[in-house]
Amino acid sequence: MSTATAVEYETVIGLEIHVQLKTKTKMFCGCELTFGDAPNTHTCPVCLALPGALPVPNAEAIHLGIMIGNALGCAIAPRMKFDRKQYFYPDSPKGYQISQFDEPLCAGGGIGGVRIERVHLEEDAAKTIHAGGSGRIQGSASSVVDFNRGGTPLAEIVTEPDISSAEQAGEFLRLLRTTLRVLGVSDVNMEEGSLRCDANISIRPVGATELGTKTELKNMNSFRFIEKGIHAEVARQTALVNAGEQVVQETLHFDPRTEALTSMRSKEEAHDYRYFPEPDLVPVPVTGAMLDRAAAAMPELPAARQARFEADLALHPDTAKLLAWRAELGDWFEAALAASPDGVSAAAAGPLANWTTNELLKRLGADSDPAGSKVTPAALAQLVALVGSKAVTAAGARQVLEVLIAEGGDPAQIVEAQGLGAVGGEDTLAPVVKEALEANPDIADRLRSGDMKPMGVIIGHVMKATKGRADGKEVTKLVRTQLGL
Ligand code: ADP
Ligand code: ZN
Ligand code: MG
Repeated sequence: MSTATAVEYETVIGLEIHVQLKTKTKMFCGCELTFGDAPNTHTCPVCLALPGALPVPNAEAIHLGIMIGNALGCAIAPRMKFDRKQYFYPDSPKGYQISQFDEPLCAGGGIGGVRIERVHLEEDAAKTIHAGGSGRIQGSASSVVDFNRGGTPLAEIVTEPDISSAEQAGEFLRLLRTTLRVLGVSDVNMEEGSLRCDANISIRPVGATELGTKTELKNMNSFRFIEKGIHAEVARQTALVNAGEQVVQETLHFDPRTEALTSMRSKEEAHDYRYFPEPDLVPVPVTGAMLDRAAAAMPELPAARQARFEADLALHPDTAKLLAWRAELGDWFEAALAASPDGVSAAAAGPLANWTTNELLKRLGADSDPAGSKVTPAALAQLVALVGSKAVTAAGARQVLEVLIAEGGDPAQIVEAQGLGAVGGEDTLAPVVKEALEANPDIADRLRSGDMKPMGVIIGHVMKATKGRADGKEVTKLVRTQLGL
C-alpha cells in the first residue's frame, strides 16, 4: 500500500524590469521626450521608421545605463553593440526593435541579495490607445497610435531567479526603485509607465535544484498588484501540480480587480526574434572617459546610506532602512538633524529618527512625504530637543506635534501659548505628588512596605492632575523621597 505524502513546494521568481531613462531626447533620434503632450507631436523620420532614416545612439542614455550598472555592481561591457529584435506590432513601425542581445551593456552584479543577470539598452515602442467606438468595419473598435513615446530609451534589468516570495519581490522592487530614483536616471513612476515589471514565476519541490516550468506575468502597474499577482499565480500553479497536472509555459495577464489570470500567449506562439547585429549602428567602445564620467556622477545609494545611518548615527537597522530606502524621508530626516539644536550626533539622531518614523508618519500617513506637510524639519528638531531637555514631556510634545501638523509654527511658542511646559522640580511637582499619595493612602502604605507594583497608580494620578505634563521618572523619584524610601 502506498501512502501519498504531501510534497512541499517553493516559489522561484525572476523579474524583468523596464525603466524609461530620463534623457532629453529619444534613443536614436533628436525628438524631445515628453509626457502628456498632444499625440504625434514629437516624431521624425527615424522614430517613424521612414525609409532611409538612420539611427544615432543617444550618448546620455548610455551614460545613464553605465550608472545603473555601477549601482547594481555589474561589469560594464567594453563596447556598446546593438542588435535587431524582429517582431511585428502596430506600434513598432520598423517591424523590429533595436535592443542588445549577446553583449548587454551591463552583466552580473546584484542588489539586496538578488543577483542581476544583465542590464541592456533598447528603445520603447509607441503607445497604442484602444479608443473603442466604431472602426471602419461596422461594429469593430478602433485603436490609435501615439508615436511620441516611440523610441524612448529603456534600460531592461533582468534578475536571476533568486526571489522566493511575492513579498521579497516587492521588497526588491522598492529598493531598486529608490536606487534608480536616487541615481536620477528615471522618473520610476509605475502609473505613467516609466517603471514596468514582468514577473517570471515557477514552483518546484523544496530542495530541488532544477527549475520548474515558468509562466510570465506581464505589465503590472503597481508593486501591490505584482505581489497580489504572484500570490494568485503561485496558488494556481500549486493547485495544478497537486491535481497531477503540469504547468504550461505561457504569458499571463493578471486583473487586480477580479484577481483573474488569463492567458495572453502560450509557448507555441512564443516569438522567435531572429536577433542579428544592427547593421545601421557600428559598435562603439565604452571609453575610460565615459566610465570616469559615470563614476563621478554616482550619488550615495540607499544601501550605503542605511549603513551610514547605522554606523555614524547608531540608528536601529529597521529605522535606518526605512529612512534610507525612502529617499524623500531620509532627506527630510537629515535636514531635521542638521537643524537640531543638539547638533549632528548619535544622541540627537536616535530620538529624532524615532519621532520622524513613528510619531510624525503615524499622524501624516505611513506613505506620506513630510515635505508636503506644515511641519518643517527644523520644527521637529526643536520639539525633540525640548523633550530631550525635559522642557516638555513626550505626551506634551505629542500635543505640540498635533498643532504643528495642523497649523505649523514654532514648538517653543506653542508650548508657551498652550501651557504645555513640563511640570517638574521640587516647587511645582512635589505638591502634586504629595496630594496623590494623600489621596491614595492604601497605595502609599504598600509602597512604604517595599511593594513597588502600584507605583503606576500614583504616576497616573499625577499625570491626570498635570494633563500629562509630568515626567514619570521624576514622579517616581519624588515618591521615594517623600516616603523616605
Ligand atoms: P526567456 O528565455 O523566456 O527570456 P530567460 O531565461 O531569459 O527566459 O529568463 C527571463 C527571466 O525569467 C529572468 O529574470 C530569469 O531569472 C527568470 N526565469 C528563468 N527561468 C525561470 C524559472 N524556471 N522560474 C522562475 N523564473 C525564471
Ligand atoms: Zn524622432
Ligand atoms: Mg531571455
